[in-house]
Amino acid sequence: MGVTQVETVLGAVPTAELGATLMHEHVFVLTADSQANWEAGAWDEEERVADAVRRLREVRDAGITTLVDPTVDGLGRDVPRIRRIAERVPGLNIIVATGIYTYADVPGYFRFRGPGLLPGLPEPMVELFVRDIREGIQGTDSKAAFIKCAIDSHGLTPGVERVMRAAAGAHRETGVPIMVHTHPRSRTGLAVRRVLAEEGVPPGRVILAHSGDTTDADHLTELAESGFILGMDRFGIDVELPFEDRVAIVAEMARRGYADRMVLSQDTACLIDWVQPDFLPALPNWNYLHVLRDVVPALRERGLDEKDIDAMLVRTPRAWFERTT
Ligand SMILES: [Zn+2]
Repeated sequence: MGVTQVETVLGAVPTAELGATLMHEHVFVLTADSQANWEAGAWDEEERVADAVRRLREVRDAGITTLVDPTVDGLGRDVPRIRRIAERVPGLNIIVATGIYTYADVPGYFRFRGPGLLPGLPEPMVELFVRDIREGIQGTDSKAAFIKCAIDSHGLTPGVERVMRAAAGAHRETGVPIMVHTHPRSRTGLAVRRVLAEEGVPPGRVILAHSGDTTDADHLTELAESGFILGMDRFGIDVELPFEDRVAIVAEMARRGYADRMVLSQDTACLIDWVQPDFLPALPNWNYLHVLRDVVPALRERGLDEKDIDAMLVRTPRAWFERTT
């Protein structure tokens, strides 16, 4: 029996109502410690919330009904703020996550806790992730509907592996799916496959985010054949890989029969303090509307049909959240 409901920031909804879903978007990506050091006083909460409400209403009005936000520890997660925004954008489901985002070491907070203090001590991350999933995040009753972790070009460092195994532990306990930030040009999906297989996580419950950053169709085929879902989720970040290449790899994977193993998104945000603001004009398409406005028409031109588009935007996101074997 699959679950038929999924938690959003404003409560559970039937998975049948998720509809057109952007599978990897942030509302804000903020590094609070650095902000407090270098931009003291620059953050205007009301202005930023109003801007997010305006942009997310545009997303909803364009036909998106669900936005999946993998902002966790390391990316400036603030679920009370997301709740305030979501309350002002009725008709758009915002789904939030638990987890830890690191490419190398665990956050200092965890360095001398659990197995970081003494080998054999229980991993506190598992309990914290499960608390976010079962009870609520940051003192709210908004529950996490998935777990996020990361592996980048640094590979499977001890810190990355510790977080990934903790994510798997929380998955085993709760059944919620896992999204892994990957670096496909370093073929990090293969390390994810090995670790999560050891941990007993079914690949169908795992999104390999940023798979669309490569044009290596054979590598992506190997991962899709293993059962993973591929995040073709950075449309608009054209300095990393140009639009035509991003569209071409999705079309090629669909041609190979994997339309239902892909999801589409932009990995954008209303504000991401990692990026120098005067660089953003170099990324004119990096916004919440690019997939619907430009990517879907381009995929249709390359022969994808409504069934393929529906798989990437509606059916596969829904299936990822539903509990299946
Ligand atoms: Zn992201």
